[in-house]
Amino acid sequence: MNAEVRNVVVVGGGPAGLTAAIYAGRFGMSPLVLEPGLPGGKLTLIDRIENFPGFPGGIGGPELAQRLDEQAREYGAEFRAVAAEAIRRDGALIQVATGDGEVTARSVIVASGATPLRLGVPGEREFLGRGVSYCATCDGPFFRDKDIAVVGGGDSAVEEALCLTRFARSVTVIHRRERLRASEVLQQRALAHPLIRFRWSAEVIAVEGSDQVEGIRLRDRQGESLLPAEGVFIYVGIVPVTGFLGGQVELDARGHLRAAEDTATSLPGFFAAGDVRGKPLRQVATAVADGAVAAMAAEKYLTGDGV
Ligand code: NAP
Repeated sequence: MNAEVRNVVVVGGGPAGLTAAIYAGRFGMSPLVLEPGLPGGKLTLIDRIENFPGFPGGIGGPELAQRLDEQAREYGAEFRAVAAEAIRRDGALIQVATGDGEVTARSVIVASGATPLRLGVPGEREFLGRGVSYCATCDGPFFRDKDIAVVGGGDSAVEEALCLTRFARSVTVIHRRERLRASEVLQQRALAHPLIRFRWSAEVIAVEGSDQVEGIRLRDRQGESLLPAEGVFIYVGIVPVTGFLGGQVELDARGHLRAAEDTATSLPGFFAAGDVRGKPLRQVATAVADGAVAAMAAEKYLTGDGV
């Protein structure tokens, strides 16, 4: 067992976690970041971020991730490529179980993000990696000159449909309503794009194929039909990653961590930042804002300074 007590453990190395690490590092808290994947989290999967302030023309997700990572290390953040698996209160301390032993902390910033929601239809799991994907930036190049489908009508679905037009012959957006939920600027761009088609008010019943995906079975007002497609990218929302907290931190009705304006959760010493917490706007800009506030709140908690 590791006897070392960390001032703050940051769970998750996405934009919220990395910003928390930058600020905590600058507060002299020597943060430890637990991130089993690449530093940057979902940023590394985003082709281009157009609305992060200060970058007219946008910035590539991987580039922003790398810059945040570099900046966190510059201020003394330490990284461990492990996931937090469980937490346990131990008096004033917190034990965070990881795949590589326990880490003892005085405070924890939960920036564990969210994972893609599954559609839950036959064929989705079976064809994962054989035509079904949740990451256009990663898998788009495999669909060069192919007809593909994107499921969903939010920012992610529309943004990724636009990204996929760089590779695909056609992209059909399948949405269960008659109107997109995505932001106006994305909607306009997608609606005007010559390679993007729409199937409105259509429900996906199954993903079909033999070795690879060959089509998507849909149901709409006209009845059932098969949309031929060699790939399907699913963007129907996200599920916050909170399982490792073992129900010890209060969630809101949608399963996000309930957090105050200063990011404090229901469990003393735990602060929530980024997509894992309940909030009205999920953006890189709001994730980094959360990260900064969480580091400040953790510092006040440690010094008993109140916020
Ligand atoms: P989202 O905003 O929750 O949208 C999910 C979409 O999937 C909705 O259109 C929803 O339909 C549809 N959907 C949900 N369950 C479905 C099902 N079972 N079958 C078919 N369709 C289903 O999720 P998101 O697009 O992943 O975005 C997550 C958050 O990140 C949002 O807050 C978003 O604004 C943010 N984000 C922002 C940007 C950006 O600003 N550039 C980029 C990506 C994500 P309904 O419309 O009928 O509910």
